Amino acid sequence: MLCSLVKICYRSCRSSLFDILPFESHPFMNDLFYLYGPPGSGKTTLGQLLAKRLDLPFIDLDARIVAKAGKPIPAIFASEGEPAFRALETECLRQVVAEGRGVAALGGGALLAPVNRALAEDTGHVLCLDATLEVLEARVAKAPGTRPLLADKPAEGTAATGATGATAAPPPRPLAELLAKRATHYASFARRLRIGDGTPEEDADAAQITFGAFRVRGMGTAYPVRVGADWLDGLGGLFQSHGWNGRAIVVGDTHTIPLHGARVKQLLTTAGIDTHLCTIPAGEATKTIQTVQLIWQAFLDAHIERGDIVLALGGGVVGDLTGFAASTWLRGVRWVGLPTSLLSMADSSLGGKTGADLPQGKNLIGAFHSPALVLADTETLVTLPDDEFRSGLAEVVKHGLLSDPDLFDLCAEGFDRLRADVSGEFVSRAMAVKIRAIEQDPYEKGIRASLNLGHTIGHGIETASGFTLRHGEAVAIGLVAEARVSERMGLAHRGLADLIIGVLKGIGLPTEIPANLDRSSVRAAIQLDKKRAAGVVRFALPLCIGEARVGVAVEENVLAEVLG
Ligand code: NAD
Repeated sequence: MLCSLVKICYRSCRSSLFDILPFESHPFMNDLFYLYGPPGSGKTTLGQLLAKRLDLPFIDLDARIVAKAGKPIPAIFASEGEPAFRALETECLRQVVAEGRGVAALGGGALLAPVNRALAEDTGHVLCLDATLEVLEARVAKAPGTRPLLADKPAEGTAATGATGATAAPPPRPLAELLAKRATHYASFARRLRIGDGTPEEDADAAQITFGAFRVRGMGTAYPVRVGADWLDGLGGLFQSHGWNGRAIVVGDTHTIPLHGARVKQLLTTAGIDTHLCTIPAGEATKTIQTVQLIWQAFLDAHIERGDIVLALGGGVVGDLTGFAASTWLRGVRWVGLPTSLLSMADSSLGGKTGADLPQGKNLIGAFHSPALVLADTETLVTLPDDEFRSGLAEVVKHGLLSDPDLFDLCAEGFDRLRADVSGEFVSRAMAVKIRAIEQDPYEKGIRASLNLGHTIGHGIETASGFTLRHGEAVAIGLVAEARVSERMGLAHRGLADLIIGVLKGIGLPTEIPANLDRSSVRAAIQLDKKRAAGVVRFALPLCIGEARVGVAVEENVLAEVLG
């Protein structure tokens, strides 16, 4: 409740900015990422790297100021003083806001003025960088004479040295003084990142997770992914920046359309998009070709043409069916993923696998059809029932187990801790794992198969249960069973399965195959699994926390022992 109240107040404060900015630069409408922090914190290097990765323009605010003033920053300070420099800074920042997209490196004091801070925070996403004093000093020393506030001067409070033999004062450390003065200011930013401990590439990975911004490349295409609280509000702006102005149809299910459909429709309508809604029945049991037919009919009724956009507002079922319907409609129309379940955010919305089930097995019909954009607003998770959230956490645990031990540790903190995470940073971490895998191997010829961890046995269990178990619940049991297979085959160390069980239990997920589930049906469903190649089912198996092996053939007797 408190959280909602804070949000309402926050939104109403922001609405004043709506009134004074043109539509294209409305708050939340912009794809702007600001890098801020003390001198030497690497904003420019990181900004250039991020801009390249996200395929956005790089903006160096100081360079803009220099170009506008026609002289270097020290000369502006010397001839006109700091207030004139700050005024120019505000002017240039307004210009960046009007441009609406990019990665902007800001000067070390650019957000001291409240007006600048409001501009940046209300129109984009600010990340404040941090590094040790030693790292900052070493970097600043590489570009002497460019930062007027760090010009050599005696450190405050140090005695002057004389020829009388008095003790020599320590050398001045103007950066240390500046940091001491601005410590509270820098600490007041919600998004902060310590950099300099790893490579620039690792810093960029961490910054992308913190921003919740990715660009997925593969299958001859590339698409942006945005994840975090409040991203949905930027939907209209993202449509505009992509030049998508045709018709749109939002497909959701009987839960997601009543909860979020009107908001999505209103956001798109405000951006000038003629928007239709299509509601399909909720649940895995309706992930059938008959439901795809319902969606095609809705496309027909809404006159969806080649240049129009289909949006999938919902969990993995809505995403798989809608993506598949889009892949086949008029031989392929663009679609946008608006995942609203944790499972669909962490997993199914990424990678372009779309499809439907047959009674004989899951996802037997399908196509690869990449979305044009994935926008995961973690605030929509507030309405997701706890059991569904829990089910989605199975995929998050899987991603930690696959290649992110820190994420696995985070999962070990348990259900309540993750449910309360409003920033959704763990969702962003989980998405980053999948994005890395699909970029390396878009068509699942190798490493992407690692994402099937827990799924070979999990799918068998899910199908044999007649879909009475949720996907994530079946995957959780599958993760444990496959870890046991890996232990039995001598691939994983003893105790790995117990470690996984501990984390899954802390989340409240099942870890054992239900006693009443017919084992022969599970085995039959595994044999039908689409990952079968040349008559052998190939498994992705965990080796340890953070590492897996793909393409492992498992002997029938080992499988029988584990399935019981
Ligand atoms: P789901 O789509 O059935 O959603 C679960 C339930 O949550 C549904 O009742 C749905 O209406 C409801 N829901 C979703 N968002 C909500 C919200 N914000 N508020 C309230 N209710 C909400 O199932 P799922 O768990 O999201 O996804 C499972 C499906 O994803 C399976 O079919 C699985 O095969 C598929 N999947 C696909 C891929 C892929 O790469 N395409 C990967 C993993 C899983």
